[in-house]
Amino acid sequence: MKRIGAHVSAAGGVENAPLNAAAIGATAFAVFTKNQRQWKAKPLTEKSIAAFKANCEEHGYLPGHILPHDSYLINLGHPEAEALAKSRDAFVDEMARVRQLGLDRLNFHPGSHLKKMDEAACIARIAESINLAHKEVPGVCAVIENTAGQGTNLGYRFEHLRDIIDGVEDKERVGVCLDTCHAFTSGYDLRTAEACDDTFARFDEVVGFSSLMGMHLNDSKPELGKRVDRHASLGKGMLGLEVFRYIMNDARFEEIPMVLETPDSDIWHEELLLLRSL
Ligand SMILES: [Zn+2]
Ligand SMILES: [Zn+2]
Repeated sequence: MKRIGAHVSAAGGVENAPLNAAAIGATAFAVFTKNQRQWKAKPLTEKSIAAFKANCEEHGYLPGHILPHDSYLINLGHPEAEALAKSRDAFVDEMARVRQLGLDRLNFHPGSHLKKMDEAACIARIAESINLAHKEVPGVCAVIENTAGQGTNLGYRFEHLRDIIDGVEDKERVGVCLDTCHAFTSGYDLRTAEACDDTFARFDEVVGFSSLMGMHLNDSKPELGKRVDRHASLGKGMLGLEVFRYIMNDARFEEIPMVLETPDSDIWHEELLLLRSL
């Protein structure tokens, strides 16, 4: 079946996320395991971990339906040694938190070269960061997200995702998450069934559906190829509903967490109903 939900709030403790997901009728969810705008976070308490697991079990969320997202501050391809080390430490901490919660994957934006190194070198550095994290924390897959390509962010071409995976030693612990808004604004058309056929065939050719471990279901405020990251509610942006109809009816998207990151959380429940109606 299709597992759909939203990136829900963890305010008051990560254990509240499965409750917030259940409240909107979600069968999957995404969550930050710490404040995404701060470097440091208190360790998860035993009590919080136990409550998270109990709430997931009560509402039927399995680890494979939950897509934790790391902090926006982390840049695993940072061109400067000190900042890179800080990002790598924070990423290991995020992976360890995911592991403590009994989960199996961590979604992140690959990184930015900040105009201080070339793309290939930055990609190699990101892969090396993943290798280092794998050595520190077992059992958690690094899930690389495609990006809008805003500023100097890498990951806006499927080839970037492929090249990062190529540099990762443990291929069992690396995968990708596709964001529909990011794909569209980075230049991959998804507005019609034919465009979806082409874009997803291209993705399959370059990266492969076997690597797909999650989806972000967002409409796009910017037009095709603008390389600006601004999400819109489903059907309210430049993408329209066809891509979501396509995904909801395509077997290649079964059993992976597919989550909304759309701007109006008040209508997530309706957006999930809309997705199911497609
Ligand atoms: Zn996203
Ligand atoms: Zn985005």
